[in-house]
Amino acid sequence: MEVKTSLLDNMIGVGDMVLLEPLSEETFIDNLQKRFSHNEIYTYIGSVVISMNPYRSLPIYTADKVEEYRNRNFYELSPHIYALSDEAYRSLRDQDKDQCILITGESGAGKTEASKLVMSYVAAVCGKGHEVNKVKEQLLQSNPVLEAFGNAKTVRNDNSSRFGKYMDIEFDFKGDPLGGVISNYLLEKSRVVKQPRGERNFHIFYQLLSGASEDMLKKLKLGRDFSKYNYLSLDSATVNGLDDAANFRTVRNAMQIVGFLEDEVQSVLELVAAVLKLGNIEFKPESRANGFDESLYVGDLEMCELLGIEQLVLERAFSFRTVEAKMEKVSTTLNVAQAYYARDALAKNLYSRMFSWLVNRINESIKAKTKARKKVMGVLDIYGFEIFEDNSFEQFIINYCNEKLQQIFIELTLREEQEEYVREGIEWTNIEYFNNAIICELIENNQNGILAMLDEECLRPGTVTDETFLDKLNTVCAEHQHFESRLSKNSKFLTDHSLPHNCFRIQHYAGKVLYQVEGFVDKNNDLLYRDLSQAMYKANHSLMKLLFPEGNPAKVNLKRPPTAGFQFKASVGTLMRNLQTKNPNYIRCIKPNDKKAAQVFSESLVSHQVRYLGLMENVRVRRAGYAFRQAYEPCLERYKMLCKQTWPHWKDLLFFLEERRRQCLEDLATLIQKIYRGWKRRTHFLLLKKSQVVVA
Ligand code: ADP
Ligand code: MG
Repeated sequence: MEVKTSLLDNMIGVGDMVLLEPLSEETFIDNLQKRFSHNEIYTYIGSVVISMNPYRSLPIYTADKVEEYRNRNFYELSPHIYALSDEAYRSLRDQDKDQCILITGESGAGKTEASKLVMSYVAAVCGKGHEVNKVKEQLLQSNPVLEAFGNAKTVRNDNSSRFGKYMDIEFDFKGDPLGGVISNYLLEKSRVVKQPRGERNFHIFYQLLSGASEDMLKKLKLGRDFSKYNYLSLDSATVNGLDDAANFRTVRNAMQIVGFLEDEVQSVLELVAAVLKLGNIEFKPESRANGFDESLYVGDLEMCELLGIEQLVLERAFSFRTVEAKMEKVSTTLNVAQAYYARDALAKNLYSRMFSWLVNRINESIKAKTKARKKVMGVLDIYGFEIFEDNSFEQFIINYCNEKLQQIFIELTLREEQEEYVREGIEWTNIEYFNNAIICELIENNQNGILAMLDEECLRPGTVTDETFLDKLNTVCAEHQHFESRLSKNSKFLTDHSLPHNCFRIQHYAGKVLYQVEGFVDKNNDLLYRDLSQAMYKANHSLMKLLFPEGNPAKVNLKRPPTAGFQFKASVGTLMRNLQTKNPNYIRCIKPNDKKAAQVFSESLVSHQVRYLGLMENVRVRRAGYAFRQAYEPCLERYKMLCKQTWPHWKDLLFFLEERRRQCLEDLATLIQKIYRGWKRRTHFLLLKKSQVVVA
């Protein structure tokens, strides 16, 4: 069998970096550029797929392409995300190995598109029949729904995911899809009330105002004009190439396919409208007749009708804050600033809880209707690494999550693989790489990690501000060098005197990020005044009791809810453990330029990404290592018929003494090697060690 020449074709570059000669960072980038200029956006490093964002639609995702890649071996055709999808799917179906597809890269690199391509490929090749097709359709249509509510235009990406998403697609023993489960991670809810310059709120707001019928707008008491709503930024309300009205129809249609009832869609849109109206409430100081006591004037509460809340109830909830402690209840009046704060907190909570409800509702529709054992393919599409001019709590959380993903990559492709060779007693020269465990530690260590310190500060009695938190960070992480903790020596927490007074800086794997500490305490606390949750609970609206369960007066809970950081860390921990039980498949997305432009390749930008993603180390380990590895039992089973020592009595072999077994396997191995040579792969020899058969 011949390896398709495109893998080695010099004109369009080399399809697998493992075959690149000579290898240096320069030739690596050159190769990417050559391929990119020929619209070859995919390149392999062994089984890892590098994907360059083409920023334009290429004719490489047609039904014909799907057929071409279907059931073909990974290296047979030119590199494609379909090849990886096919490999993962077949390995799941035929070898019963649960898979996960890990898609990483910075914001705008093409992760979300990649995740959709994987899903649509798998949907195209798995199972047939009316029921199966319905399941597939529902799984695929969950995407536009979640994107409408969870994505937004940012400086980096016109369709940036502002939440993390992990989806398990479940299959039966034949490989037919049964359903799926989606987990979502921390929606960037601050966006609901304020967007950075040049960015927008979540798509759904603009879609609703542009795409809803006159009739619906009337029901929701909305107008079409974005400028009437304080929560919608104006400088970038319309986005080139984005048709909000058409997308609204797509989303409505998708909701219907996923299984939302008309009532439910209506309820959700009522909440979206209510959030817009919340943003327009005005508060003013109002002097009482006696001239001393200032009370609060609360403006028009238009959303009350939509939510089924009595105006007076909401007005009171915006005017007072009641603190309950043991047997006591103390009410204080809110001033104007506090009232605005409470309003925004309510809007953020209302929206993000509605988003979680949507995810749960989708899960209810798409979940497998059987209890039989399932094979699982997990697809992870999480917000990419972000460095902005102003970085806040959200970027800190997003970047932490990216550190954890990089950590999995390092653990599995760089560390474990090398350790495995050593374990197997195979001669091995160690390849150095940067291990970001130290940064993860800096953030998540239970005692003195940044998240732990933030929690400690949030729970401490007395006056807690962002500044006291920063002081604490600076003391523990930087100044007390003599302090006997790993953290105090953590060189990734950067201090120098040029730092603005309200900032801290971390050397992330992907670059230095300066974080503004303002809002950290507040966002981590994520408190909603109880008066407001109780008012929401009283609303006569089908979703509100579900969204604000803590507002139930019968269930007053005096315990503080866990902080946002704590919850995030816990859910990322669970995710990582889950991923580690599956066979990983990597898609490393690279952004070719900062302009969202087609056919522009910025060398410096690409080489920065190649460096921090550890791709050079990845190739080195792959080149020094073995192209093919398999534990000997399945290898024997697969190739048993090739050699007289192993056929037909291959099962006996498992009980042979070490020496004899080795001899037989070596004979078999020589044969496999010949076949591999026939493929013109870089196969020099084949080694057998304790538990593996490997082809170099
Ligand atoms: P990320 O999720 O990494 O932030 P996206 O997947 O949203 O990035 O990609 C950003 C934009 O880049 C998309 O909206 C799309 O316009 C373009 N894009 C990404 N991948 C592809 C692709 N394979 N083909 C064509 N355009 C793409
Ligand atoms: Mg995305």
